[in-house]
Amino acid sequence: MSFSTLGLSAPILEAVAQQGYETPSPIQAEAIPAVLEGRDVMAAAQTGTGKTAGFTLPLLQRLSEGPKVQGNQVRALVLTPTRELAAQVGESVATYGKNLPLRSAVVFGGVKINPQMMTLRRGVDVLVATPGRLLDLFNQNAVRFKQLEVLILDEADRMLDMGFIHDIRKILSLLPKKRQNLMFSATFSDEIRALAKGLVNDPIEISVTPRNAAATTVEQWIHPVDKKQKSALLTQLIRDNQWQQALVFTKTKHGANRLTRYLDDKGITAAAIHGNKSQGARTKALADFKQGEVRILVATDIAARGLDIDQLPQVVNFDLPNVAEDYVHRIGRTGRAGATGKAISLVCADEFKQLSDVERLIKQLLPRQPMPGFEPVNLLPESRLDLRVKKPKKPKKPKQPKVEHKDGQRSGDNARGHKPTGKNRRHQAGQGQSQGRNQGKPSSRRRPGAKPAGSDQRAAPKG
Ligand code: AMP
Repeated sequence: MSFSTLGLSAPILEAVAQQGYETPSPIQAEAIPAVLEGRDVMAAAQTGTGKTAGFTLPLLQRLSEGPKVQGNQVRALVLTPTRELAAQVGESVATYGKNLPLRSAVVFGGVKINPQMMTLRRGVDVLVATPGRLLDLFNQNAVRFKQLEVLILDEADRMLDMGFIHDIRKILSLLPKKRQNLMFSATFSDEIRALAKGLVNDPIEISVTPRNAAATTVEQWIHPVDKKQKSALLTQLIRDNQWQQALVFTKTKHGANRLTRYLDDKGITAAAIHGNKSQGARTKALADFKQGEVRILVATDIAARGLDIDQLPQVVNFDLPNVAEDYVHRIGRTGRAGATGKAISLVCADEFKQLSDVERLIKQLLPRQPMPGFEPVNLLPESRLDLRVKKPKKPKKPKQPKVEHKDGQRSGDNARGHKPTGKNRRHQAGQGQSQGRNQGKPSSRRRPGAKPAGSDQRAAPKG
């Protein structure tokens, strides 16, 4: 298949050719015609699948056919969880749209707001934004959504993980009800599906990676090691294997700083990228790493999410993540686009639980390679593959003061001593049912027959 069969116009095909892309990736082959038709899309796709071009190319085409943008207005809004991802998507929009008379802008926090306000004054066709800064700009009357035609949520799962749900709901409440919605997420948890229900309308569902499955082209193993020996072991791995580039994950910002200093002391150039670093420092670290001036990029999960660093030969988990899904995201940085990568984890005895959680999620035991000279004193227990599905934790009931039911009122009764009415009971049952309907994995380009209840755009609740 070639790009020319997907219905894209000449200026866009030219920009694609200039990038050297010959064949659309699977997500592009499915998403591009759907977006061009004006359909809503819900896609399960990680960074590295070509998802950005998957939504940007048809988006630009649709925008190039519509009306001119007015002052302070936006015609398409792309929301991303992190500044880095916003910058990367903004770059893609500029690259793919370079032969079109469209304006685009990127706005995120951590930098001055005034230049962003100036840029928005003339209006922009595509605005890429992180949620908090977008709301700041809205509150300062710098951006308006009267002309908004398309909303894109990129890495929706990470936005929820980062606590942006209220901001997102607030933003949804500001947008025109009639619009096209595109939602991308690496995983489709029940929480994401609940958000999608009030957002997308009769969507085409696309899934290009199996839910929570690690890429098959990534070789994975662990080195059992004592916590205190991890830095020395990493140094030896870098030297023995002559790694020119590696992305190393730590659990904490402190840990990232400490490790960066340690490596620098050993003569291995390293830079840390995490939420406490200024935007300038993060951009510089990434640029230095991409240019090969920095050999080791040490990152925390949030900072690394969505980083477009192509085909890294190896990713190292200096610490295992607390959330097993992050392991899958992390190792998605290597072995992209058909290249084989290595994902190596340094695991100490304290991390046995995290290791078991990861192994359960990826449904395989990670091979163990003890390193001579680094055999742990605190032994890592043997793993067993436990494929039982973990029950989600029940939400805690709010604590109620213990009161004696002196008047004979039972706990199921309401304050006046009545049983809940039949009407209320029906209402509760209905809520449970509607949540259950949307569960399950999105199939490949499935067009659900019936419109799910509550999927119309009016349902966007106010935050
Ligand atoms: P993304 O998943 O959007 O972050 O894209 C991952 C990388 O794949 C980016 O560096 C793109 O430049 C590249 N890419 C996107 N589409 C294609 C394609 N059809 N052929 C080759 N490379 C692509």
